[in-house]
Amino acid sequence: MEQWSKAHSIHVEMTPEYITPETVHLAEGFDGITNMQASDIVEPVYSKLKELGIPVIAQRSAGYEMYDIKAASDNDVIITNVPSYSPESIAEFAVYAAMRLIRNSDEIDQRVASQNFTWEPSIRSHSIQSLKVAVIGVGRIGSRVAKIYKHGFGAEVVGYDIVEREEFKTHVAYQPDLQTAIKDADIVSIHMPLTEDNYHQFNHDLFNQMKPGATLINAARGKIVNTQDLIEAIDRGQIRNAALDVYEDEGPFIPKNWEGKTIEDEVFLQILNHPKIHYTPHIAYYTDIAVQNLVEGGLNSALEVIKTGTNQHRVN
Ligand code: NAD
Repeated sequence: MEQWSKAHSIHVEMTPEYITPETVHLAEGFDGITNMQASDIVEPVYSKLKELGIPVIAQRSAGYEMYDIKAASDNDVIITNVPSYSPESIAEFAVYAAMRLIRNSDEIDQRVASQNFTWEPSIRSHSIQSLKVAVIGVGRIGSRVAKIYKHGFGAEVVGYDIVEREEFKTHVAYQPDLQTAIKDADIVSIHMPLTEDNYHQFNHDLFNQMKPGATLINAARGKIVNTQDLIEAIDRGQIRNAALDVYEDEGPFIPKNWEGKTIEDEVFLQILNHPKIHYTPHIAYYTDIAVQNLVEGGLNSALEVIKTGTNQHRVN
């Protein structure tokens, strides 16, 4: 932020506050906002911004579901995103998270910590090469995940996307629907955006159609998975384990330090304490290159909207 500020001779101030009806007044006197927040941004934020003459919130992420787009448009506030800042970062993380689960890393670490160096079937794992992987949502991130599994490990890779793209057919064998894609897969890796069609699409019914003992990776959006159904499916052995980089009600927690505070969200607590769920706090993207691209992308978009009234990454 400071480097960009100097290079463009533009005054930038930072605050740890989220944009809420209570904090929006902090923007008074500024020409634009760039923001990174996971919780909802609700009215009267947008009407207040209109009153303050602020035409833009440049979100520093690809997802923008936290905005009330209609309210923003009604109040002439342009929302921009950074659609592609390092798909490799998220793809690499998704594969790493699957590797941890497939290679029983948690259990092996625990055993080593107690000086148990034995070889037993409970920690015997699989070669990824022998597995079938289903990639759900074969876009910027999903295509890279497919490429790593197929060309890096030699795994069989199937996928489902509402749009089939010729250029990804060397990485993934597209299936006609989600059910066909997941039904024999050992690893199911989710990489689609949250839309009106896929809220809780991974639920009790779908888990029952997955291969018994499959591993689920969600580094996309928490609300795609019905968390309670997932815990239940893991507990009865239908799903072997899961890596969740996102949680459907993560808003109050991410990215905050809750050390010493009481978490009352029972489902979140179950995830945190579950031995077969590897939870990470929405950090798949969090690499040097991604942060640099996000910061520059957000600031550049805000500046362009202020100067020209629009930007190629506006979402409304
Ligand atoms: P993208 O737009 O390039 O690809 C998404 C793909 O999903 C597209 O090909 C699209 O056609 C497909 N799709 C949309 N709806 C679908 C549906 N109902 N069923 C199947 N496929 C569907 O997006 P991307 O850059 O690859 O990002 C994918 C998602 O990853 C983002 O939307 C975001 O939710 C998530 N993400 C997570 C992190 C993280 O840190 N965990 C970071 C960035 C993005």
